[in-house]
Amino acid sequence: MDDGMDDGVLPGDGQDWPLPPAWMWGCEDCFRLYREMKHPAARDPLPGAAVPAEGEAQLRLARHIAAEHRAELPGYAATCRVCVDHQARTARDRAMGRSTLTTEQLAREHRARHAFVPDSTVHLP
Ligand SMILES: [Zn+2]
Ligand SMILES: [Zn+2]
Repeated sequence: MDDGMDDGVLPGDGQDWPLPPAWMWGCEDCFRLYREMKHPAARDPLPGAAVPAEGEAQLRLARHIAAEHRAELPGYAATCRVCVDHQARTARDRAMGRSTLTTEQLAREHRARHAFVPDSTVHLP
């Protein structure tokens, strides 16, 4: 099987990283940000420059997905306490007539991680 993705970017380094959904591979930015997250050295940093922490790259990718891939965003996961918390906050803000822009944005950035982060770490805020 040759799906053109076997270039070392895929998960499989012994962690429980999920296989990212197909729509991520169809997006240049997703692919680039994912690769940077998994292989910080691929960023080719300037000599002496600090390699960005994995968390930063993960956040960049989550933000990109939240902004550009709303249609594909994973839904709230009933088994994830962070999802449940975001959902409750959004519902509360809406019920109180407050703006849900911020809460919904944070919720989207979290939900985006469900697409590409292991379950063991996605539950972190
Ligand atoms: Zn993308
Ligand atoms: Zn969640």
